[in-house]
Order: sequence, then C-alpha cells, then structure tokens
Amino acid sequence: MRRTKIVATLGPATDKPGTLEAILVAGVNVVRLNFSHGKATDHVRRAEAVREISAKRGLNVAVLADLQGPKIRVGRFKEGAVELVDGRPFILDAEQDKQSGDEHSVGIDYEKLPEDCRVGDILLLDDGRIELTVDRIEGARIFTTVRLGGTLSNNKGINRQGGGLSAPCLTDKDKEDIKTVAQIHADFVAVSFPKTPEDLHQARALLKELNSSANIIAKLERAETVSNQETLDAMIKASDGVMVARGDLGVEIGDAALIGVQKMIIKRARQLNRVVIVATQMMESMIHSPVPTRAEVFDVANAVLDATDAVMLSAETASGSNPIDVIQAMSRVCLGAENLPITRTSRHRMDETFFHTDEAVAMATMYTANHFPQVKAIVCLTESGNTPLLMSRIRSGLPIYALSRNVATQRRTALYRGVEAHYFDYFMLAADDIKRKAIQLLKSKGCLHDGDVIIMTKGSVMGLHGGTNALLILKVGDEV
Ligand code: PGA
Ligand code: MN
Repeated sequence: MRRTKIVATLGPATDKPGTLEAILVAGVNVVRLNFSHGKATDHVRRAEAVREISAKRGLNVAVLADLQGPKIRVGRFKEGAVELVDGRPFILDAEQDKQSGDEHSVGIDYEKLPEDCRVGDILLLDDGRIELTVDRIEGARIFTTVRLGGTLSNNKGINRQGGGLSAPCLTDKDKEDIKTVAQIHADFVAVSFPKTPEDLHQARALLKELNSSANIIAKLERAETVSNQETLDAMIKASDGVMVARGDLGVEIGDAALIGVQKMIIKRARQLNRVVIVATQMMESMIHSPVPTRAEVFDVANAVLDATDAVMLSAETASGSNPIDVIQAMSRVCLGAENLPITRTSRHRMDETFFHTDEAVAMATMYTANHFPQVKAIVCLTESGNTPLLMSRIRSGLPIYALSRNVATQRRTALYRGVEAHYFDYFMLAADDIKRKAIQLLKSKGCLHDGDVIIMTKGSVMGLHGGTNALLILKVGDEV
C-alpha cells in the first residue's frame, strides 16, 4: 500500500478516451479541477466522470476544486507574443486596451497595480522567466527596464519579488465558481492567493450558505503568508489543509528560501493537525518525456521524506503527453521513499498535552502500534474522519483503515497519508457485531488475515462526531 497520496490535475490530456479511467486505476487519489482554465461545464462533466468511474472500479477518489483567485496578469499582444530585450524600456499600462500589447507596452488586468508598485521593485513575469525593474510610475503607467529578457506571451502572470501585491482574494469569478463547487459536491476547495485568515473564513461562509461540506485548502503562494511562524500558523489554523504552492511562492520568495519554507510548512501543518499537499513542477519534464529526471525523482522523494500527505501533478497530467506514465512513475517513487525507516518513526507531540478523548485515543493507538511489532494494522471506525486524520499525523509504517458509513468522510480521507477508507455501515449493529463485521469486511478485501494483531478504535456510542473513546487490541480470527 502506498501511503503518500497523488493529486492529479484534469485537463485536455485526461479527456482523451480511456485516459481518466487509466490514471485513476494507476493510483490517483484526488483529482484537481483547475478553475483557471476551462468552463464550469467542463468541470461538472469531469467531476461526474470521476464519480462514475470510481463507483464502477470501487476506488475512493476525492475531488479538489482549485479556484483561480486574484492572479495578476498582463493582457494580450497584437502578435500573440513579444521579445523583451535586456536593458530596454517596457511599460505596464492599466489603462491600455487589453488586446493591444506590443514590444513597448502591454495592458494589465488589475487596475490598482500602479498604486501597489514602488520605484526599485522587481516584477517577475511568467513564473519568473522575465524580470522588470520599476523606474517610475505615472498615473496608470508603470515604466520599467527589462532586467531579464525573453519571450512574453498573452496573459502571463505578474508577481513582485518579496510579495505584497494586494489584489483582493475571492474574486467575482471565484464566488461564481463556488456555486459549481457546491453543485458537484467537491470534497475540497483550494483558495488561491489567500492573504489573511479572513479570506479563508469568507470562503468557508460562502460554502456554508450553499450547504457544501467541502474542506478548505489554503494555497500558500504569497510571500507574506510564510514570512514568520505566527502568520503561517494563522493561515494553517484557518484552513483544513494547505498547499505548498511552489510555483507562485517560489517566484515571490526565491528558490533558495523555498527549500526551508517547504519543510517548515509541512512540519507546522502536521503539528496543527492539518493535511498538506506539495505542488508544482514535481515531474515537469514528463510533460514531454516518458521518464522523469533524476532530480524530479529526488524532489518527489524529498517531499515524501518530509512527510507530506500528498504530491501534486499539474500540466504533467492535464496537458502532458504521458499522463498514465507519470502516475506510475510518481507512485513508484513514493513507494521507494516510503521504504526508508525514517518515514516510520515519530516523536510527534511526545511532549504535548491532549485536550480531547478522541485525540488521546488516536495518539495512544499510534504510539502502541509503532512500538508493538505484532500489530499489523489500525482499524478506525469513524464518523467525521477526525480520528484517522489525527492518527495519520504520526509517521508509521502501518496502514490505517478508516471505516465509515459517511461517504463524504470516506472521500476526504483520500488525501490523508497512510489512510485507506472503506464504506462500512455500523448503524443498528450491536457492539460485538461491529467488531466482527468490520474485520470480516477487511478480510474480504485482502487487507487483513487470520492471526494478524490489529488495533481497533471506536466509540461506545457509534454515530457521534468526536465520539471515539475505545482502543481494542484484537487478533484476527479470534473475534468469532
Ligand atoms: P497554480 O498554483 O498551479 O494554480 O498556479 C500552484 C502554484 O502556484 O504552485
Ligand atoms: Mn499558483
């Protein structure tokens, strides 16, 4: 069983006949619908196809809807693209027609950008491939000198080195797209470019109005959100999970700083009982190549060793030429990294106090499991999914089987490292029947065998959120 989960972005490449089914079977745990591209109808169609295939194949696949957010972009060029030459002047003009860019100037889609910029700022275009230095600002026009030239094409993004550009989060388009999120019963919503916890609270309130139970993933892609521990913690606490959005974040803070920041985000997210996804360019060369580079292999492995819950693919699956190969390669690399003993031991929260019964039971379970070699698996009967979430914050080599009658819970756990969910309806069953039937179910799926010692957790009253209060050590085969 692979513990690290794979998030794959859907797009034209996965729309080809048979491809979606093939990547799900190859091991995708969460599909990402990227609302920066395509129409709402495309996302609805893809979400429906995912649900249909997972039901047919008996797979547990969650849907993550990724909102576009307030990414600041240049307009379009008359010729589609221009060549910017080092040392030459170039103007970003908030009042220029957005279709009429040329080698002297181009429109921008955020009219307040000239107010946000200062003389001396370095603006990074197209994920840092082009750099401009701000010389002066006159009204709606930002006069710059090309610091690092190259080809600039339509609608490329703009970031400022060091961060701090302030387009407000949750655009009108995002608010409209959240309706689609609710309609397709997405399991997760990724909020792009959140700047404050308030942005995440606002997204949560909108979802609530629409009766959506989607969990919120905060994309950490602004420099200011990771600039110190306090701000980072506040963002993590306001979300259900975070994404290390290395594309935009790396542009703003620089690649050297990104290395430590990735490690810090993963560590803090897990300490605060949140899930974490590492994203962007993990297998970038596989957009064209059938095999990853050694550097990509080690990048994925590094994230696995850092204990991320999931690794993400963007264009590699959405528009690349080898979406199936890339899932197989990523899966293989995760498994390889998970073989290292460091992924199985943990001192997580060893010196901390617990505040809730389910939390205490979850911690005791993992501590026992990791120190009792006879234990082969953890079986966790869960209503809300909180107990398997808490358990999976601890490194371990043992599978955590989450059994739930709640389909939304079951799907959410698709993102939790080391957790495999199965549908199990314990409603109306007597306590002894629950134990017996749960073990039977996992035996029938080939997860458990006679003689295996397992730890089972459950509530004495089943069906309550946070009701887990029992830890049982059982031997499979003895329960009947
Ligand atoms: P994006 O976000 O792919 O939507 O830009 C991820 C990132 O910035 O890394
Ligand atoms: Mn981004």
